[in-house]
Amino acid sequence: MDRDRNKSLLQELLKVPGNDRCADCGAPGTEWTSYKLGVFICLNCSGIHRNLPQISRVKSLWLDFWENDLIEFMKNHGNLCAKAKYEAKVPPYYYIPRSQDCLVLREQWIRAKYEREEFVATRVYQDPCSAGSREGFLWKRGRECRQFQKRRFILSAGEGVMKYYTKESGSPKAIISIETLNAMFQTEKIKHIHGLQITYSTDGQTRNLFVYHESGKEIVDWFNAIRAARYHYLRTTFPAVPEPEDSSEQGHVFIGRTDEGYEVRAGFPQGVQMKKRKPGITMVTPTREFVFMCENDREQREWIDALNGVLAQPLTG
Ligand code: ZN
Repeated sequence: MDRDRNKSLLQELLKVPGNDRCADCGAPGTEWTSYKLGVFICLNCSGIHRNLPQISRVKSLWLDFWENDLIEFMKNHGNLCAKAKYEAKVPPYYYIPRSQDCLVLREQWIRAKYEREEFVATRVYQDPCSAGSREGFLWKRGRECRQFQKRRFILSAGEGVMKYYTKESGSPKAIISIETLNAMFQTEKIKHIHGLQITYSTDGQTRNLFVYHESGKEIVDWFNAIRAARYHYLRTTFPAVPEPEDSSEQGHVFIGRTDEGYEVRAGFPQGVQMKKRKPGITMVTPTREFVFMCENDREQREWIDALNGVLAQPLTG
């Protein structure tokens, strides 16, 4: 009878706002918890928490036994409480992964939040210019031989460029403008669990760099550094664009002009993988990317044309 009572107490806790979606990836259906952190999480994220016994302890809501004081602890904590504490200062350029994202992104998000406490209120906010500056080695796939070779990379948000070197000394092999720089994890394409695809355009052509690093933290830090550099570039190039609003506000996308940093692209951005292969559109704004799904290629083309028409128009009124 104690068991039944506890079960209904836990069921009540799931109805508390915030607890019905995974504290880490936002997936619906939270049947697991970290009873050390006081959060309700999904099955996938519970697997990551299980590997971090120094900061987290996992319990199933329905399969495990719950002591009364633990239920009381969960009641006094919960997802919104944890979010207020561990996500107090997530920088606007930092990529918050969703359930469809690759493992390294989700794992490093969880580690950054709870293990390294990177986003708690007492942390000093790192400005995008310094967050977007980084130097180190990455394994880069060769253009012809397709072998991975260790290359030194330098990202400088202040200078607005990323460079990489093939030799210890001397001039860089390539100097890439941050203006068109983009990065997304492509673990299957690169055949490495930390595989990152960096794209940029030069002379009107899109080019790719395929890189990885053995350390999950290192590659995700590079990924977010590129995002920070890009964010810094957009904020300094288009200073009139308002700061991003609270991310909980959804449903409206303000569309500015191309010369204000707005752009329409075919396809999906980082982390968006569709089960059904439907064509998509990404609306890039100076501070965020929005994704739209289309029924077919024709619809995608029509929407891109229509959105580009809006972008080309000067704002009135
Ligand atoms: Zn999750």
